[in-house]
Amino acid sequence: MRALAMQAAPGEGPLSRQTLALVDALWEPAWLVDAHTLRVLAINAPALALLGRTRADVVGQLAEALLDTPEDLAFWAGLQGPGGDTELLSRTLLLQADGQPLHVERRIHRVDLPGEPGLLVVSLRDMTPERRALDERDTLIAELRATLESTADGLLVTDLDGRIRAFNRRFTQLWRLPDHLAGGQDEAVYAWMLDNVQEPEPYQRQLQAIERGALVPATDRIVLRSGQVLERVMHTQWSRGRPIGRVWSFRDLSERLAADQRIETLSTIDTLTGVPNRRQLTQKLAAAIAEAQRRHGRLALLLLDVDAFKQINDSLGQGIGDRVLVEVSQRIRHALRGGDLVGRVGGDQFAVLVHHAGAEAAEHAARRVLRATEAPYEIEGAQFTLTCSIGVALFPDAADSAHDLLRRAETAMQAAKAGGRAGFRFHHANTHDDEVRKRVRLDHAMRQALAQQRFRLHYQPQLDLASGRVVGTEALIRWKDAHYGDISPGEFIPVAEASGFIVQIGDWVLGEAVAQAAQWHRAGRVLPVSINVSALQFQQSGFVTRVSRALAQAQLPPALLELELTESILVRDAAEALERLQALAALGVRLAIDDFGTGYSSLAYLKRFPIDALKIDRRFVRGLPDDESDAAIVRAIVQMAHALGLRVVAEGVELPAQRDFLAGIGCNMYQGFLFAPALEPQALLERLPPTP
Ligand code: C2E
Ligand code: MG
Ligand code: MG
Repeated sequence: MRALAMQAAPGEGPLSRQTLALVDALWEPAWLVDAHTLRVLAINAPALALLGRTRADVVGQLAEALLDTPEDLAFWAGLQGPGGDTELLSRTLLLQADGQPLHVERRIHRVDLPGEPGLLVVSLRDMTPERRALDERDTLIAELRATLESTADGLLVTDLDGRIRAFNRRFTQLWRLPDHLAGGQDEAVYAWMLDNVQEPEPYQRQLQAIERGALVPATDRIVLRSGQVLERVMHTQWSRGRPIGRVWSFRDLSERLAADQRIETLSTIDTLTGVPNRRQLTQKLAAAIAEAQRRHGRLALLLLDVDAFKQINDSLGQGIGDRVLVEVSQRIRHALRGGDLVGRVGGDQFAVLVHHAGAEAAEHAARRVLRATEAPYEIEGAQFTLTCSIGVALFPDAADSAHDLLRRAETAMQAAKAGGRAGFRFHHANTHDDEVRKRVRLDHAMRQALAQQRFRLHYQPQLDLASGRVVGTEALIRWKDAHYGDISPGEFIPVAEASGFIVQIGDWVLGEAVAQAAQWHRAGRVLPVSINVSALQFQQSGFVTRVSRALAQAQLPPALLELELTESILVRDAAEALERLQALAALGVRLAIDDFGTGYSSLAYLKRFPIDALKIDRRFVRGLPDDESDAAIVRAIVQMAHALGLRVVAEGVELPAQRDFLAGIGCNMYQGFLFAPALEPQALLERLPPTP
């Protein structure tokens, strides 16, 4: 009944005007409910706006119609009857007219005014903005959490006073934080950390700095007891221009340090041979020099260069070249004493540091190394030998720094090369530079001499030991220089070999000697000419062609030309040498091995090559016939050469007794001052019987 009356005249029912005005005056959405019937008595404009209803829709309706959940019914029921709570605060969801949910905070207050029915004042606060902010905050926190967990660094977040706000899983892993500390009890976590660093001091120092209010980012390294190395960075968190806390990040450096270590190793070790590279060797050398300086000690540096390594590479291929370097490095290492050090300082260059060594010990070391590197090599089926040149520089005699000592050893090595390779030279502080300068001058003069045709060939007769007749000649180069006077081939040939100019000289000799022999031949003399061929010349790819072209040009029967080769040609690159020798033999020229006995090849080794003759080196002839060992050697060479079908020529015969001994053991030919030195062509002819 009463409800109907209210509906008919809102604001004029049981409620006074003041009460109604009060509700309308409220800023917040509110309505009044009859506490007894639970029907809405009045509602203000903000509430209608919020709910999207009209006053007519609402007033007189049961209050629960404005609500949506079943719990609300119970709630309203609980309010019925006097003695209920006078005030209730709750959060709830309202359904708006368009069905949209609305988060509200609802306050219900019971008011019992004299003369009016029990009233429930319902007021709402729209919680949507707060709710949205809360949602956003939750999302943000979740995102931050995910970020915190997704970094590879361990993170510890604290407030300005060091109270722990958060840390991530990586942090617990890095520090091996036990489970019971995962909750983050500040003191216990800090104690654990302090306990697990190897040197707590820097750690404590940093904490103190922080206590003093240090805010700049600080980075340092800490080493855990486990050996693990962590990089630690402290950042200050700022908010609106004020520091609000700190983030500590911990990064595991162990892996990076291990990688650094590997790089360090790589950059000090030669990757091919596994011995120290130039950098490390120089460092070690500098350290050894410093040490020797302190103790007034000495040391030696050997610089070794493989002779003609380029040819090994060119002819056998780089793969074998590499293996040669590996083997050379191993042989050097084995030839050294324990503390001595070998390093690869260049393509085919090795340096050897010999501790506590004076000249004598250095020489021993050099000889050991030479011997070790000269033994035959067999790599991938290729057999060959090689030689090395070594320069020796002594501390403190030659230089007193690693750099200078290396340089001195290098110039000494170059002198060893110029001196014919396959040996060693000491660096001599004063004479050395002069030597180099002289060599450069000589090389220059030689080039001029060739251009200006100042070279001549002289011919030394070779005699048949049985008949005593001249049966051949050896062409020997002569250089008369206006400025230098006579220069012996023993002096300039090695320089030409070192500089490569020997190739041009050799070309000239070939042409000249062949022309001379052809001239004799045309004049009716069968007088073979032998020419000396340097290894470098022989190894030129066009060599065989050059020989055949020279023969054709001069129209000389090939059998009248003999090439004197050195043993080093055979042993250096056996396969290619064999091929080339076969090509020359096929041309019909004769081949002889010069200075036999001074090199490395054995007679058995010679069997493989198409050789016609051996020339026994002068130094074995010198002692004949009295020196027993010379006599035995020469006898053995002759016997074995004959067994192999080779002719034997003895060089440097100066005495009749030498000639007679050689004739007695069946040696085929000889040459020497006994009969004649090398002569000009005209002088030679005068020594020969007239042509028939
Ligand atoms: P080699 O080929 O062994 O030449 C023999 C050397 O012994 C020559 O010295 C010759 O003059 C010398 N000789 C000859 N008979 C006697 C003797 O009875 N007693 C002594 N003590 N020595 C004698 P040479 O002309 O000074 O040549 C020295 C080396 O220079 C030669 O040794 C050869 O290796 C090289 N050579 C000379 N001419 C040429 C050339 O045209 N081309 C090349 N590549 N090398 C050459
Ligand atoms: Mg010769
Ligand atoms: Mg000789």
